[in-house]
Amino acid sequence: MAGLKSLLKKGLGLGDMGFNAGGGAINWFPGHMAAATRAIRHRLKLSDLVIEVRDARIPLSSANSDLQPYLSGKRRVVALNKKDLANPNIMHKWVDYFARCKQDCIPINAHSKSSVKKLVELAELKLKEVISREPTLLVMVVGVPNVGKSALINSIHQIAQSRFPVQEKMKRAAVGPLPGVTQDIAGFKIAQKPSIYVLDTPGVLVPSISDIETGLRLALAGSVKDSVVGEERIAQYLLAVLDTRGTPLHWKHLNNRRIDGIEYDAEEKPDYSLKNLKPKTRNLPNKSHLIYVEDLVMEVQRALYSTLTEFDGNVEDENDLEGLIDLQFGALQKAMKIPHKASEARLMVSKKFLTLFRAGKLGPFILDDVPVS
Ligand code: GDP
Repeated sequence: MAGLKSLLKKGLGLGDMGFNAGGGAINWFPGHMAAATRAIRHRLKLSDLVIEVRDARIPLSSANSDLQPYLSGKRRVVALNKKDLANPNIMHKWVDYFARCKQDCIPINAHSKSSVKKLVELAELKLKEVISREPTLLVMVVGVPNVGKSALINSIHQIAQSRFPVQEKMKRAAVGPLPGVTQDIAGFKIAQKPSIYVLDTPGVLVPSISDIETGLRLALAGSVKDSVVGEERIAQYLLAVLDTRGTPLHWKHLNNRRIDGIEYDAEEKPDYSLKNLKPKTRNLPNKSHLIYVEDLVMEVQRALYSTLTEFDGNVEDENDLEGLIDLQFGALQKAMKIPHKASEARLMVSKKFLTLFRAGKLGPFILDDVPVS
């Protein structure tokens, strides 16, 4: 990964977006997020268990380091969400890693009720084994942006309603931030004896960005706005990761359309926002759109496979890698049939490429490396 590392050192053209010597992040987030963190601490104090949602593709990069000492002191379950987008062959190594750290962890897909049920059962178990006399127990969901907190709370809500169709109001007086002031906190009842409620609003944590690569991974996973880093840099980083890992070399045999294998289960239907890939000039019905996307994926994979196999440089060399990535932008532009004249071609290529990756169309992926202990 030497090529990738030195490319990152050069800042991937990040220029002013780089880091201070002290490693302090610069304007990655709007200031109000810090205030939000303070408000979360207060609600966390009221909670008996916290579900910390992280992105399964970046189990460490999607953690908030400021709150970690506090969170690890609480009863906590780490939910590695979007497991459908994460490489299952590597996922189990992460599960082992968290087990070694004595931290409860469960990979989930927030859109799948059966998967969320397992998480709810784990949370119940963790609470019931310790506390059985407390009349009302509270569970809070926290995590950095875009990891799927709302999707998870939605699924928990559905489970709660199927268990307790008539939802009772939560009976726990929450003390407000000011002395003598109580405030209403709302939640869904998910268990009885003891009553367990899940708070209906998640705590949004500020992502911690200790280095550029963490920032880029968070951007790839959608936790940092694209406009902060720029789509081109994110796409460039993704290409660098794919090339140094040799991922496109596995795409040699993927020449057949996989459309016939696509089946949708009404309950587990993924909510991928691939609509923006649709050519604006044509109004394709759904099935044709799927075929269009699958063809696009095939063309993209083919373009990256052939540029990497024909490349006679060394991906460990930053200049060679940069040259390869430039070639790949050109090949992707052709594959995506983006007109040569378009002055924003590189940006359009980047946007489409990122959409495909984020929807899992380039295959399941895990960007973080399991720490060696
Ligand atoms: P929040 O900002 O943490 O509340 O995240 P959201 O719940 O709004 O989810 C962000 C995006 O990720 C949405 O487009 C969701 O549909 C998607 N998402 C959430 N959970 C999953 C999951 O398990 N798998 C996949 N593929 N997408 C998910």
